[in-house]
Amino acid sequence: MAIYRAAAKVNLCLHVLSRQADGYHQLCMLMQRIGLYDLIEIELTAGSGVELECAGVVLPPGGCNLAERAARLLLDQLSDPPGVRIVLHKRIPVAAGLGGGSSDAATVLLALRQQLNVPLAQEQLMALGLRLGADVPFFLQGQPAWALGIGERLQPLRGLPNCWYVLLNPGVALSTAQVYGQVRHYSTAPMRRLHFTRTAELAGLLHNDLQLPAQGLAPAIEQAAAALHAAGAEAVLLSGSGATLFALCDSEVAARQLAARLALAPGWWLAVAEGLVDVPALLPAPA
Ligand code: ATP
Repeated sequence: MAIYRAAAKVNLCLHVLSRQADGYHQLCMLMQRIGLYDLIEIELTAGSGVELECAGVVLPPGGCNLAERAARLLLDQLSDPPGVRIVLHKRIPVAAGLGGGSSDAATVLLALRQQLNVPLAQEQLMALGLRLGADVPFFLQGQPAWALGIGERLQPLRGLPNCWYVLLNPGVALSTAQVYGQVRHYSTAPMRRLHFTRTAELAGLLHNDLQLPAQGLAPAIEQAAAALHAAGAEAVLLSGSGATLFALCDSEVAARQLAARLALAPGWWLAVAEGLVDVPALLPAPA
């Protein structure tokens, strides 16, 4: 049995460029994985099929879990697949704009490809991942990246400063589809810089076209943003479709001090996490 960490992500910027006829949106996003993880135990068994146990939260039953779907998709590539048992320990808040489900899916794909020596090239794995969700290809590679198209066309960044994030969720779960359904205004793509040396340069880029639609659905987001500003945060943004906000900080000390100053309302969720740079896509859990 092997244990892996599936990292969450934040969107440093998210521009919605247009809506396609199939309902998907053309996007231009800058994404970074962060040091907040689900834990996934994966074991090959003598049986058949995929068995999933979820520890910590209730997730959709009946084969809808992205970790389980990812395992089935990978086993479908084999002529004589083994059984797989997965135990998922959720630590990333669900439906929070932090990409937990997509990250779980990517981790299962990468882990099973490795454990079973499946001869799938990276592009083939990306195509499989895209069938599970638009953010899955991002999690199949290790770099912060610009994500274009519906999120599947990736342009990795090699240079990014060591940022830290204070994450605050006002205890609201938001459906990604519902938030996109509220988008009325589209923006143009920003200049895509590939190298940043200072956190302040990233702060100048923060933008999320989903923030106003998400706030319309969950007014508590505005209260959480106000709390972050009152605690001294300067660069605050909604991640993805929310409802998690992040404050961008240039050091761990600054992030922890900001978190300590926050006045939390009941039910709010708070975490401090570092931005991941040059960290492999598949992350075994530390021994
Ligand atoms: P998105 O990646 O669509 O922006 P998100 O980051 O806001 O989503 P997730 O936590 O990935 O939120 O959950 C999105 C939906 O997927 C939820 O409705 C949840 O029930 C479902 N889901 C399926 N499998 C998982 C999983 N392994 N972890 C979390 N959510 C899952």
